[in-house]
Amino acid sequence: MSYKRSSFLLILIAPSGGGKSTIGDRLLEKETDLVYSISSTTRSIRTGEKNGEDYYFLGEKEFLEHRAAGEFIETAQVHGNWYGTSRSIISSRLAEGKNILLDIDVQGALNILKQGIECVTVFILPPHQEILERRLIDRKTDDAATIELRLSNARKEIDYIKEFDYLVINDDLETAVAEVRLIIAAEQLRSVRYKNVKEEYYRSENA
Ligand code: 5GP
Repeated sequence: MSYKRSSFLLILIAPSGGGKSTIGDRLLEKETDLVYSISSTTRSIRTGEKNGEDYYFLGEKEFLEHRAAGEFIETAQVHGNWYGTSRSIISSRLAEGKNILLDIDVQGALNILKQGIECVTVFILPPHQEILERRLIDRKTDDAATIELRLSNARKEIDYIKEFDYLVINDDLETAVAEVRLIIAAEQLRSVRYKNVKEEYYRSENA
């Protein structure tokens, strides 16, 4: 069968600590047509992270030069650091027919929507704010002030839930992953994504 479909941007949005990186990693393992959009950031590299894999870690001057040159489809300052999504990665991977996973914050997602860029947006919410706080404390990557900043940002982000297409409550990881996979499956079947329905349907069997 050679019905061709156009691919799409899948944007996962969640308060930090909401579990979206873990969900994203699971999706990338399971969904062969999904690739990750590696963002650039000015924040310092954490233990275990790799430049060019988790992020492109840039100095502020370099980041702002790339930004001025129009190399990002969106940028945002999150928790005091710059983050940006690469324009060239997005266009080349879409052209290859890959769906692209973006792990970005609320501002970035709203910015992409405002530009009218076609995308599928999924908000991932922990079942309760105390669970978010516990996850941030348990992952031991941030000091108390940073955790407070992340929690206060989460309180603001939750106000935007209705701007996004889907809401997945991340109570149980496997269930949340399964639900996002259902979204991907359904989105792939949207009639508008099919490029050559009539040609395929009427194609001579001997052609
Ligand atoms: P972290 O520093 O913990 O990796 O990420 C902090 C926040 O920045 C997360 O909410 C993450 O989704 C967001 N983020 C990562 N990359 C980008 C990006 O390219 N653009 C925007 N707007 N946010 C991003």
